Amino acid sequence: MDEFDCAVIGAGVVGLAVARELALAGREVIVLESEGAVGTGTSSRNSEVIHAGIYYPKGSLKARLCVEGKWLLYEYLQARGLPFKRCGKLIVATSRAQVGELEAIRAKAAANGVDDLEWLDADAVREMEPKLHCLAALHSPSTGIVDSHALMLSLQGELENAGGVVALKSPVDRADCRDGAIVLQAADGTQLRCRSVVNAAGLGAPALARRFEGLDPGLVPTPYFAKGNYFTLAGRAPFSRLIYPVPEAAGLGVHLTLDLGGQAKFGPDVQWVESPDDLVVDPARGDAFYAEVRRYWPELPDGALLPGYAGMRPKISGPGQPPADFMIQGPEDQGVAGLVNLFGIESPGLTSSLAIARHVARLLAKV
Ligand SMILES: Cc1cc2nc3c(=O)[nH]c(=O)nc-3n(C[C@H](O)[C@H](O)[C@H](O)COP(=O)(O)OP(=O)(O)OC[C@H]3O[C@@H](n4cnc5c(N)ncnc54)[C@H](O)[C@@H]3O)c2cc1C
Repeated sequence: MDEFDCAVIGAGVVGLAVARELALAGREVIVLESEGAVGTGTSSRNSEVIHAGIYYPKGSLKARLCVEGKWLLYEYLQARGLPFKRCGKLIVATSRAQVGELEAIRAKAAANGVDDLEWLDADAVREMEPKLHCLAALHSPSTGIVDSHALMLSLQGELENAGGVVALKSPVDRADCRDGAIVLQAADGTQLRCRSVVNAAGLGAPALARRFEGLDPGLVPTPYFAKGNYFTLAGRAPFSRLIYPVPEAAGLGVHLTLDLGGQAKFGPDVQWVESPDDLVVDPARGDAFYAEVRRYWPELPDGALLPGYAGMRPKISGPGQPPADFMIQGPEDQGVAGLVNLFGIESPGLTSSLAIARHVARLLAKV
């Protein structure tokens, strides 16, 4: 049987960031990825926004790792000349009730250490974004956008320079954690004995963890899947900043984001689905987008929205339940030496990736 010090399951942005961190700390690392390329999962189907860390409950992992991850990410991108833009975002209130909610959002952000939000009245907003309609807005200057593929390729490169390996087309099927080391078994029956294993399999992480012999299945959360559909805008982007409505229950509302080429897209909405593979965008959902977007951009022309792509949120709380925090279980939480499971790494997972990597490395360093 082959032996490795440390295996990371999943080559999304989180798995790659964790693997790089461990390799830079001097560990021998292999990343096992079921697909034929890195980053083909949720990491390539998101908004590519570097979130400021505004909305999450104080003290939660999402709040802490997003704020830490944002600064680590800006530093990382800047130092390597990777593509990003700190374009800022506006959170807009389009009704009196929402103006009150903006106050609550500003207080929540401040509690998370995000104290750079600026309050703008309607006139100040019009000066910044003449086509935007709202009663008031919060401006977040530390929000930005990133090229997630360039980031992942860079993480992979640094992992490999530090001696790490990425094994593509290597799906992990199960593991046995009962005898001190962790024995991973690939779908073709190949076995790999490891001192540490990090399950960063994204949407598949809970199902995979249920196939870990020696791990209490009661610790593994039930997965739920919330699809987020995007519609792209034909023609020029009307705004130069990201525009977000006041958030709704399971997502951040149908917002406008820009890519680094200046192309605008709207979304993601929230559509609870049974299968994580259900990634086709139903053009009929566009009708609801027109209504939502016209609350803050009434001039959106008929026929301007085209079905784009969809991403799948790896949820661990279901419809109607309060939003769950990231669930990062280390050896002490699980009673399994060397094992870390990452569950529910939805947004802001991209922003938080470098901070999640540090957190995981600390959990593994304790044993
Ligand atoms: C619609 C949407 C919008 C989002 N927008 C943002 C945003 O703007 N900003 C932000 O910060 N975050 C955003 N996120 C969240 C962010 O995209 C994710 O948190 C992040 O990409 C998760 O990365 P990951 O590496 O954990 O998972 P993934 O990218 O899904 O990677 C998991 C990998 O594991 C592999 N795998 C699965 N099972 C196995 C197995 N058994 N064996 C081997 N390999 C396996 C998969 O093939 C995949 O490559 C968004 C998410 C969604 C869904």
